[in-house]
Amino acid sequence: MGATVEPLPTVVKYGGAALSPEMAPRAVEDLLGRKGLVVAVVSARAGVTDQLLACLEPPFRTVRHVETLEEMRLKHPDLPASGQGYLLALERDLKRLRTVGRATPELSDRILTYGERLSAGWFAGELQRRGRAAQAVEADRLGLRTDGTPGDPRILLSASAASVRRGLTPLLRRGVLPVVTGFLGRAGDGRVTTLGRGGSDYSATALAYCLGWARVELVKQSVGLRSADPRLVPGARPVSRLSFDEAEELAQFGAKVLHPRTMEPARARGMEVTIRSLEDPTQRTLVGPGPGPEPLRALTLLGPVSLLLLRVPGGRQRRGVLAEVTLALSAGGVTVATLYTSSALLCIVVESAQGPRAFRLLKRFTQDEGATLEGPRPAALVTAIGEGLLSDLGRLPVGLPPLVLGASATSRTLSLAVPADRGVEVLRALHQNLVERREAPAG
Ligand code: ASP
Ligand code: MG
Repeated sequence: MGATVEPLPTVVKYGGAALSPEMAPRAVEDLLGRKGLVVAVVSARAGVTDQLLACLEPPFRTVRHVETLEEMRLKHPDLPASGQGYLLALERDLKRLRTVGRATPELSDRILTYGERLSAGWFAGELQRRGRAAQAVEADRLGLRTDGTPGDPRILLSASAASVRRGLTPLLRRGVLPVVTGFLGRAGDGRVTTLGRGGSDYSATALAYCLGWARVELVKQSVGLRSADPRLVPGARPVSRLSFDEAEELAQFGAKVLHPRTMEPARARGMEVTIRSLEDPTQRTLVGPGPGPEPLRALTLLGPVSLLLLRVPGGRQRRGVLAEVTLALSAGGVTVATLYTSSALLCIVVESAQGPRAFRLLKRFTQDEGATLEGPRPAALVTAIGEGLLSDLGRLPVGLPPLVLGASATSRTLSLAVPADRGVEVLRALHQNLVERREAPAG
């Protein structure tokens, strides 16, 4: 063999579980063993974001906050001076939280970001101790811009590109490995915003977009992507290849291994995104522009969710009725997870916690003669995903139909709402029919 080819420049993201005390040494080796240009992106270390979230729950007790600070110190040993600064800043912000007595969106976001800031400082320190020049980089200071929408902000890719390049290129030129915080960015008004749970995946593809790089690796602790959550479906199979569209549907319909917006920058630039396991190098999933050679069949479970049934006279044909309903909900702060309609019945699915509020907001539509509103009813959404999925309708389990409260379908998804307590059972039955039996040799 000739000289080995330098791998293409790659953004490599390490998730929180891959940075746990047990796994972290492997993550460090993984990175040190790489050739070619690399930017690392890190999540908060395992459990840290959950702990910070717990601090935001009232009552805001000093003891609890002091304990958390101590844990943060222990979880990020040997922090360089800049990292020590984050601990002090976190201490100040927790104190502010106790004084204000309310977790304002701004304060909450600020507090949550210390998980990633500490992680980047600590990880860069580990690399330096192993002789690799590395530097922690905070994504908000770097200029990763977001639109600031609370809870679900979008990264403004074009607006971020120039400053991201300006920040990272000089480091890369000097052979310094940037370790960038995942999960956060800066809104136009300068506020820091977090990207939602699992948001570091999205940070990774967004940074690759800004750099004009075509490779991203999302490194998880154990499994890559599977045909279903292996904790719920023991027979879940590894998935080796899928398309952006399929990956996006999986994330939207509840697969927790991927943040729902991760594929947006990747699709825009036709990147190759690999999801791989740190424990087992054979576990790899490649997400790319087209579908894989084997048709994907994967399942997700989202729930419990709340189902509301609104019957409007004139039905869905009534001009603007869908817009009125969804606007009323969004103005009241409720996000519609999915919506099915028949001629006069709108079946609206929202997050469980938002069910009662959605009911109140929809109440005004019942003033029309003949209109009715039922719910919120606890449900689970079981979704089958894969290009050409509707050709599988004949494989659906025989006992299923009476359980189905509503369904929506496209050429690559079939999403069924079923009673909340039957979700896992339906998920397993669908997995058996669509994934496991499909593989069995024809008799
Ligand atoms: N630390 C954040 C979370 O736990 C973001 C991430 O892990 O990607 O959700
Ligand atoms: Mg995570």
